[in-house]
Amino acid sequence: MLENQSPREDSPKRILIVEDEPYTLNLLQLIFSASGYATVTASSGKEGVQFFHTHRPDLIVLDILLPDIHGLEVCEKILSHTQVPIVFLSALSEEEDIVRGLDCGAIDYITKPFSTKVLLARVRAALRLRDLTSPPATATVYKDDYLTVDLSAQQVWCNDLQVKLTPTEYSLLAYLLQNAGRPCTFQEILENVWGTEYRDSTHYVHVYVGHLRRKLEQNPKQPVYLKTVYGCGYRFVPQEITGSP
Ligand code: CA
Repeated sequence: MLENQSPREDSPKRILIVEDEPYTLNLLQLIFSASGYATVTASSGKEGVQFFHTHRPDLIVLDILLPDIHGLEVCEKILSHTQVPIVFLSALSEEEDIVRGLDCGAIDYITKPFSTKVLLARVRAALRLRDLTSPPATATVYKDDYLTVDLSAQQVWCNDLQVKLTPTEYSLLAYLLQNAGRPCTFQEILENVWGTEYRDSTHYVHVYVGHLRRKLEQNPKQPVYLKTVYGCGYRFVPQEITGSP
């Protein structure tokens, strides 16, 4: 089952910063760390989408002009899965840029150059709004009699033994788990785990699902978690909890 686990009071809120300019990226990381936030940094749109799935941030600060995927597209991709607050931080300061950013679902839009105090105040406001409007928390833990996946801690156990996954294996598992129960198409998996430029590399998905089955399934030849959806993709199937040892 997927548990709605409330975040611990003492755990810092996690901010994913997506910014391709190293100076601004470092500056933002310093500003947020100094204010008690945990930070994850991504320097491209592809990394931003990938780290969103693997790190489950509480908020995303997103640049618009990125070297690979446009920030608006990154925003749309992420918001098609979740309600995470996204704050655009961009040098594009025309009225229509701001309107476009907000229309694509971002909670706020800040223009560069920015004031540190205003940035922090708007991030606090966005997080408060999220706490007020979102369901208790995003699902962070999957647990049944055999398999446990903690998406916050990025750890996986089978029969209480910790399983070591590579970053790609973990990203793939996290993505399927976040979409548990529904078929995920090859294209969708590739775009979200590998990036848009890999959208035709269906064989990657087969190979990595194979790795995951060998590591996670009790019988990799008869998988119960990672089911093939023929001609379409894969689906993570949550298992009943029987309570038997
Ligand atoms: Ca940029």
